[in-house]
Parts: sequence; C-alpha cells; structure tokens
Amino acid sequence: MRVIVVGGGIGGLALGAGLRRRGFEASVLECDTDVTATGGYHITLDERAQAALRELVEPAIMRRLLASSSALRLRERDAFWDRRGRLLGHGPDLSESRSVDVDRITLRTLLAEAAGDSLHLGRTVSGAGHDDDGRPQVLFTDRAPVSADLVVGADGTRSVVARHLAGGPTNRPAGIVGFSGRTLLRDLGPAEQQRLRRRSGLAIGPRGTALYIGFLDPIGNAALHAPELRMSVTNGPTYIWGAMFPESAETDSLRALRDHELQTALLGGFRERGWADHTLEVIARADPRSVAGFRFNAASTRAADLAPWPTGRVTALGDAVHATPPTAGMGAGAAIRDAASLLAHLDGTTTITDAVHQFEEGMRHRGAEVLALGMRTVRWILATDTALGAAITTLSIPVLAAATRLRGRR
Ligand SMILES: Cc1cc2nc3c(=O)[nH]c(=O)nc-3n(C[C@H](O)[C@H](O)[C@H](O)COP(=O)(O)OP(=O)(O)OC[C@H]3O[C@@H](n4cnc5c(N)ncnc54)[C@H](O)[C@@H]3O)c2cc1C
Repeated sequence: MRVIVVGGGIGGLALGAGLRRRGFEASVLECDTDVTATGGYHITLDERAQAALRELVEPAIMRRLLASSSALRLRERDAFWDRRGRLLGHGPDLSESRSVDVDRITLRTLLAEAAGDSLHLGRTVSGAGHDDDGRPQVLFTDRAPVSADLVVGADGTRSVVARHLAGGPTNRPAGIVGFSGRTLLRDLGPAEQQRLRRRSGLAIGPRGTALYIGFLDPIGNAALHAPELRMSVTNGPTYIWGAMFPESAETDSLRALRDHELQTALLGGFRERGWADHTLEVIARADPRSVAGFRFNAASTRAADLAPWPTGRVTALGDAVHATPPTAGMGAGAAIRDAASLLAHLDGTTTITDAVHQFEEGMRHRGAEVLALGMRTVRWILATDTALGAAITTLSIPVLAAATRLRGRR
C-alpha cells in the first residue's frame, strides 16, 4: 500500500516513521528544507503520547528522546502568580508524573531520522484530489501530481488537505497572540531565580495578558540518565516563556517586529498593563534571537464538528483537524496519538476506508478532549479583558495571595 503524508511536522513524521517500520510504502512531503528550522520552544509528551511513540519508532530512537528530555517528576510543583509576582497557588503534585518535556527541534530531528528516506524536504503541496482512476492524489505547482492508495494531510493549522476535504478552514484565530523566548536561569538576578525556582508557572491578567514560564533542564532533570545519547538543544536550566496578549491592531503590529525590537515592545506592553518590573526580567534577559511571535488557532471543541467530511481515501490528522492552542500543552501529543491510531487501523482492518473511518472516529474525541483543555485557559485569559473579569481578578487576587502566604507559614 502506498501512503502519501503531506507535512513533515510532528504528526506527519511520526506517521512516516511508523509506516516505514511496518513495511508500508510511505512518502512524507514537507515544504521546509531543514527540519531543524522550527520553533525553539519545548513540547510536553504525556504518558499516552509516549506510548504512541513507542509504537511508531524503534526503541533506540525512544531512548535518545528520553535521554534528551526533562522529566516533570523531577521539577517542583508549578506556580501561579499575579502581575506583581505574588504567589497565588500551586499546580498538582508532579512527583508521580511520567510526562517529559523535549526541545521541539530535538523531537523533530529524531522523528525525521526515524522517517528516513521516506521524508522528502522542499516539497510544497498545493492541493489534493483524485486522478482519472479515482485514486487519491496530491498536486504541486512545480511538478506533476502523484497518486497513492491513501493521502494523509498532516500539514498543520493551514492545511491544504483538510481545507480541500472540509471545503474551507478547519480552525480560526482563538483571540490571543503569543510570543515566545528562551532565557537561561543563570542570566536572571538572584531575586528572580529565587522566586521562579526550578519549576514552571503562569501569571494571568489583567486586560487579557498572561505570561507562561516553562522550566526545562534536560541535563539536571534528565528523564533517562544516558549522557552519551543526549541531543537536547537546551544545555542547562532554561526558562522557555510564552507571553500572551489579546489579538488587536496593536498586537498585529508587534508581530511584524523581530529580536530586540520585539523584546522591547513586549516589555512595554506588559508595563503599560501594570506588570511589576521584576516579573518581566525573564523577558528582558532572554536571548533576543529566540523571541518570536505566533498566533493561537483553535478548531471547535465539539467532537462532531471535527473532520466534517465523508470518509474516503484522503484524510488528515493533528493540527490540520484539531488545531489546539499551546495552552493545553497537548497538541503535539495528540498528533502523535493520531498517527499511532491510523497506523494500527491500517495494519488491522480489511479495507482502507474502514481503517480511515475508525481512525477518524477516535480522532474526533481525542481532538475535542485536548481542545477543551486548551480553550479553558484561553477563555480564562480573555475573561480578564472584560469589565466583569477585570473586577473579579482585582478582588480575588489579593485574597488568593494572602491565603497562599498563610498556607506557606503553617
Ligand atoms: C508555542 C507553542 C508551544 C506548544 N507546546 C506544546 C506542548 O508543550 N505539547 C504539545 O503536545 N503541543 C504543543 N504545541 C502544539 C504543537 O506544536 C502542535 O499541536 C503540533 O506541532 C501539531 O503537529 P502537526 O504535525 O499536526 O503540525 P505541525 O507540527 O505544525 O506540522 C505541520 C507541517 O506541515 C508542513 N506543511 C504545511 N503546509 C504544507 C504544504 N502545503 N506542503 C508541504 N508541507 C506543508 C509544515 O511546514 C509543518 O512542518 C505548541 C505549539 C506552540 C505554537
């Protein structure tokens, strides 16, 4: 069976690796010319995503991935702060967590290695359809169409394949614009090092602003102690942060900026909304080349709205179907689980259409679950941009901060 996968991001490469491992004839067509030219932030892989990956890649690749990952169980509980840096509460106990954080570049590089010669870089697909014999095919502007037995769109939020299937876009802007950057823990002053500690955290509001600070340390907190296998991009305790603002004409103009200019504009945006200077040190001390903007896109949170097309031999997976804002930290994991599910159905079901039907059913529920989680945080952030939300935030935060202080003294 010949399978064409459009898009060599996380889900497409994972599928390509699995197809190759099980002896299918697979081609993964990716428009990028370099797999390492991808966002510098990190990806969280929970237990389900890791179990799916084990089905898709060889054990040796899995070991290198874990040797390059930071284990959540080894970091302190997450923290919640207000814009003045006051501690409002903690996230759940992570000591039993099996989740890991890995650099996106490392994950994509390892998956590309697993996909091997099925990966074809520099191939931009312009559309999908069927040939005169009714076989699915992909189209290009610079070469002849190619037919296969199955075409899978793993081409992300702006998917041409899912757009062809759905007859229009499968997601829309979620109302938030994000900006990410990397800051070494050692580059912060002693007071902020002491406040942020070796943990991740989130500060929200007012006026729809939020700052997520993720802690990553693939050496000190290695999920698998095997330094000889390590290939993490992050080489010491690092904060990978995400600044969030409601989408507006002002944030649109920020997206045109780069490096230092963007960093300075972000700091101005937070200060204008009353954030204390010390809470912004993590942005001010970031490597300016790491600072970049991205838009949050989201599909519907209703399972029935996802993959709204009749089952056939063209399908899609991952963000192409259930674009998930990063606030869930589960979009990549869901794309990997989609890939493992499609592979299992192709391997075990008699016809391709039956396999695709069963796969799409499972994907709708998987997608709706991660979207509901991601959108909960998005709505919470956006609520602080309303009069009622702002009033509740203003009233409740000092109470929460005082309660946390009291709990800490006990
Ligand atoms: C800042 C941020 C942080 C995140 N953190 C997490 C996290 O912690 N955990 C998590 O699970 N998820 C996270 N996510 C989400 C995660 O990155 C996505 O959900 C995931 O990458 C989706 O995988 P995908 O394969 O569907 O799409 P992508 O990884 O986006 O891959 C799509 C690929 O298709 C290619 N492509 C697009 N169009 C074409 C075309 N026409 N022809 C050929 N190729 C094409 C693109 O170049 C790209 O390589 C985060 C996202 C962001 C933006």
